[in-house]
Order: sequence, then structure tokens, then C-alpha cells
Amino acid sequence: RPTVVFDNVEFGYDRDRQILHGLSFEVPAGDHVAIVGPSGAGKSTIGRLLFRFYDPWAGRILIDGQDISQVTQASLRALIGIVPQDSVLFNDTIGYNIAYGRDGAAQDEVVAAARDASILPLIEKLPQGFDTEVGERGLKLSGGEKQRVAIARTLLKNPPILLLDEATSALDTRTEQDILSTLKRVSEHRTTLSIAHRLSTIADSDLIYVMNEGRLAEQGTHQQLLRLDGL
Ligand code: ADP
Ligand code: ADP
Repeated sequence: RPTVVFDNVEFGYDRDRQILHGLSFEVPAGDHVAIVGPSGAGKSTIGRLLFRFYDPWAGRILIDGQDISQVTQASLRALIGIVPQDSVLFNDTIGYNIAYGRDGAAQDEVVAAARDASILPLIEKLPQGFDTEVGERGLKLSGGEKQRVAIARTLLKNPPILLLDEATSALDTRTEQDILSTLKRVSEHRTTLSIAHRLSTIADSDLIYVMNEGRLAEQGTHQQLLRLDGL
């Protein structure tokens, strides 16, 4: 259960426009931490740096004490499971989707693991079974149902760190809240960083950072931050 640390990170996509200004924060091992803030604050940039799509101009990013510039891409991929806002599903069954496109026996194994594992609450609300065809060929899932399947398939790979990049931001608040509280329940001790839009739906986070213009503006629990308007 690794800790994620941003230590004084300076970064911009272009030399003449700095986006992150000495950003420091920590995701303690096993905690669910959320980052909120207005559009353009630099939230998604954090995820891109964590995956090393870009490297910081200065400062360090550490996972479990190790600078990620020393970690191979393959190891990073194995360490961090990401769920983006608009997950793309295969036009195939739910089982095929949560098994990441594996056929036959390999797929059966993943589906069995899903049944055994605690992730079942994430998908049991779907009205359909694992054999249901989705997408063009079959049932069209709602945005919320799609994201449930996407989160389930990421959790089944058992990544030590889970990064939700606006994974539920496009959904209505009730659906978002529902998915996040289920996630908290089924994946309670997994180090989780959730990039979010609305303070109202991340009440289950252990810690919330508020970002503004590439800096940390506030931090606290949901209760402590409730006085902030507009989130
Ligand atoms: P947020 O996720 O908080 O909405 P982002 O991290 O996506 O913010 O973006 C922060 C800033 O970086 C914005 O001003 C955005 O325009 C800029 N930006 C994002 N991606 C790129 C890019 N690929 N090239 C140049 N500028 C970018
Ligand atoms: P929402 O209810 O949030 O508006 P939609 O039901 O409109 O979400 O789904 C968003 C888009 O994703 C739709 O165009 C839909 O056809 C498409 N879609 C839904 N499920 C799948 C799937 N399993 N595979 C591919 N595309 C899908």
C-alpha cells in the first residue's frame, strides 16, 4: 500500500506558461484522497505527471519513497490503475469487458474472481448478468453503468494505487455519490487519488485537497471544507 508524494513540483506544458507552482501534497498509504478545484486548476495534469506522460521541471514525485523518474513505464502501469471520465467499453459482454478482452478460460477466471471478490457490489446493481452484450451489439449502458464496469475491471487487476480522473464527474450527483460510496466500501484500504469536480459527492474521502491555479489552496476533511462555496 504505497504512499504517493508530490514534492515541490513545478511544471508547465510550454516553457512560457507554468501550470503547477511548487505543488506539494501527499496521499497516505491506504487512504482515499480527493483533489477538487475549478477547471484549469491543474488537476488532470497531476495524473499525467504520475504516469510520466510528462516530467516535472523541478521537484520530485515519489511512490513509496521512490522517485518515479527511476521507475520503468511497465512498473508504473502495474502500480497505478486509472479510470478516466469516459471509459471505452468493448462491444462485447460485461464479462469480456471486466476481463479486459480476455477470451475463454481466462475470462471465466476473471468473472469467477469478480464473483468471489468484494467488487461485486459495484456491478450487482446492473440489471444484466456478466453474459449480457453491451454496446452496438446489445444493451446500451448508461454513463453510470459504464463507469461501474470500468472501475470493476480496473480493480480486478488489483493495482496498489487507484487514480480516478474525473471518473464520475459527468454523472448526476446521486449516481456519483452512489458509485463513490460503493467504491469506498469495496476498496477501502487501497491508496486512492480521486480527481473530482464537486465537493458534495466526495464526502467519503479521508482527505481533500483544493487546488487553484496550480497551487494548493486548502486542505481538510469534507466537514472542514463545507464552508467553501461553489464546489
Ligand atoms: P483541470 O484538470 O484542473 O481542469 P488541467 O490540468 O487539465 O486542469 O489543465 C491545467 C492548465 O494546463 C489549463 O490551463 C490547460 O489549458 C493547460 N493544459 C492542459 N493540457 C495541456 C496541453 N497538453 N498543452 C498545453 N496546455 C495544457
Ligand atoms: P448517459 O446516460 O450518462 O447519458 P449514455 O447512455 O448516453 O450515458 O451513454 C453514453 C454513450 O456511450 C452513448 O453514446 C452510448 O451509445 C455509448 N455506450 C454505452 N455503453 C456502451 C458500450 N458498452 N460500448 C460502447 N459504447 C457504449
